[in-house]
Amino acid sequence: MIVVRAYEGRRVGVLGMGRSGLAAAGALQAGGAEPVCWDDSEAGRAAGAAAGFEVVDLTRAREWDGIVALIVSPGIPHLYPAPHPAIAHALAAGIPVDNDIGLFFREMAAWEPGADDEGDDDPLVVCVTGSNGKSTTSALIHHILRENGRAAQLGGNIGVGVLDLDYPAADETVVLELSSYQTDLARSLAPDVAVFLNLSDDHLDRHEGRGGYFAAKARLFEAGAPERAVIGVAEPEGAYLANRLEGVAEKVVRIGGADGWTVSMRKAFLTERQNGRQLAAIDLRAAPALRGAHNGQNACAAYAVCRLMGLGPKQIEKGLTGFPGLPHRLERIAGIAGVTYVNDSKATNADAAEKALLSCDNIRWIAGGVPKAGGIAPLLPLLDRVRKTYLIGEAQDAFAAQLGDAPHALCGTLDAALAAAAADAEEGDTVLLAPACASFDQFTSFEARGEAFREAVLAMA
Ligand code: ADP
Repeated sequence: MIVVRAYEGRRVGVLGMGRSGLAAAGALQAGGAEPVCWDDSEAGRAAGAAAGFEVVDLTRAREWDGIVALIVSPGIPHLYPAPHPAIAHALAAGIPVDNDIGLFFREMAAWEPGADDEGDDDPLVVCVTGSNGKSTTSALIHHILRENGRAAQLGGNIGVGVLDLDYPAADETVVLELSSYQTDLARSLAPDVAVFLNLSDDHLDRHEGRGGYFAAKARLFEAGAPERAVIGVAEPEGAYLANRLEGVAEKVVRIGGADGWTVSMRKAFLTERQNGRQLAAIDLRAAPALRGAHNGQNACAAYAVCRLMGLGPKQIEKGLTGFPGLPHRLERIAGIAGVTYVNDSKATNADAAEKALLSCDNIRWIAGGVPKAGGIAPLLPLLDRVRKTYLIGEAQDAFAAQLGDAPHALCGTLDAALAAAAADAEEGDTVLLAPACASFDQFTSFEARGEAFREAVLAMA
């Protein structure tokens, strides 16, 4: 745990009792502060009380006596569509609103070497933001560093909450995946290396449109002022950000760019260039967990970060090819009788499912669940890659209508869809779970849906 000492002896509100809120309350308490917790849900309040924290209704003004700051969980709107009532109170009363990321960077600013630390190094912090690929890129950076003998921890929006990480040692690198909510609200941001992967329309309600969404991500660079930056320039926002950093940051690497220091995909090769001169080329076909153009972008960004941290191309190549991948993201579960089974349960919208369909061949596609606006309309041009679609969940009738004459079956459940797809599949086919839907009609989460798929496949193997 990272102990937060900044509020010793003072009362601090903690809003939201999920993973990050509970960790923040614990870290504040360990540092001598008095956390005062609230969650709108009964279950959240129970979790706070069970952990031994004082639970009071922070939506009532009279409960705020002596509270000097409010720490907010990322799931709670802090400004749009409207501030949560507790946050509205803090805003009106001039009480600073912050989050676990802000607390982390505040502690890091006061970082002190431990007994085992030698020399005058400080731990380095790498932050990854973007609309898609954050988890993959963060995990990949972490993996490459460790493969090359560098001490590293991974957390933030992935795996362990930031305050649940161990206090970093001098020679250690902390890799943080950060969502736009987290970068928007954190009062302190001080990454050594910062990554902006890409921008697509997402979470726009929470940021009052694309401009606000971009601004939330850009804070990592404007307020964070990293010396080293890696910027995906596929969208105008990325190109703009890279331009703004030119001459401000010490080093800027452009992903997918043409000028300056760039790392880009050229056919199957990740290619590093400086001012037009090629420095390295890595064949990503040797990296089975990084299939698809979207993973090419993630690999380029991770490569650039590791170059900025002093690793050589050969060292990074070893890490890329050995990357095991993340569960539920184009995860190869098994090959049975020449048929490959792939779990992309993380594809909860058409955009993500598109990446999956583009990454596989001869597809027997399992889709459905709770549909998103537009359903699978954007995927219809890709149906030539699909041999047959097996539909499940609430979306199945609507998706069947969108599929029209394309071969499909109404299967209802994931188990039935898998059984039907496996029975139809021929050698060389891929049975792909890429639902383009949320999971909540039949599962508790996309993870639970992916686990169910994995278990059912392994039971057949
Ligand atoms: P995040 O943490 O940003 O949600 P993940 O690494 O978990 O990203 O990937 C989630 C999904 O987003 C993947 O299953 C894939 O469909 C899609 N994706 C991953 N990387 C990219 C990328 N660089 N560009 C576009 N889509 C991507």
